[in-house]
Amino acid sequence: MVQNNGNLRMELIQIPPDYLNIMGYVDESEVNGPGRRAVVWVQGCLRQCRGCFNKESWSFAINQLVSVDTLAEKILSNPRNQGVTFSGGEPFWQAAALAVLAAKVKAAGLNVMSFSGFTLEELQSDSAPAGSQDLLNQLDILIDGPYIQSLALNSPDSPVSSSNQRVHVFNPALQEHITWTSDQIEIHIFKDGSRIITGYRGRLELE
Ligand code: SF4
Repeated sequence: MVQNNGNLRMELIQIPPDYLNIMGYVDESEVNGPGRRAVVWVQGCLRQCRGCFNKESWSFAINQLVSVDTLAEKILSNPRNQGVTFSGGEPFWQAAALAVLAAKVKAAGLNVMSFSGFTLEELQSDSAPAGSQDLLNQLDILIDGPYIQSLALNSPDSPVSSSNQRVHVFNPALQEHITWTSDQIEIHIFKDGSRIITGYRGRLELE
């Protein structure tokens, strides 16, 4: 299932404790989980799903190193945010630091959701990436399973992008808040002219 584990350890070792190697960040989104939320795209994924929306996220080379404290401050500086979503890349390869970040923002009243190419059962197994259970313990919602192009869904009725994926709602208060759908996109245009297009049809496209 997972290849190049030796190489992966070599790459991950470059990330200092309580830091994250991220691909991108948006301050506020309405298409990546319930309500308004910050989104953190982590850098690095081994899965190489056919039709992946974020091939730039595959490399584990350092992209943007940011401390957990800095990211927590950023997320909490927007009073409109109700939560944060971890996407990627594969969030669970940086599970330990994300669990610390999740605990910080949850202490301030936000909810936390994560995508993963692993299934929940894989994340609960002995072969799961380090820190997986710590991150699972913090999550309100997990969307699990790899993107499978032949099972793709781009539908106003689906919160997942391929039909094998599952929505695990661990926090009953969010059970009625599955508001996002797989046919939505958002375009964020920044002062410097750069753009981020996000949503399942282009989970993160940087220009
Ligand atoms: S798990 Fe996600 S980021 Fe990784 S290859 Fe598959 S679709 Fe792309």
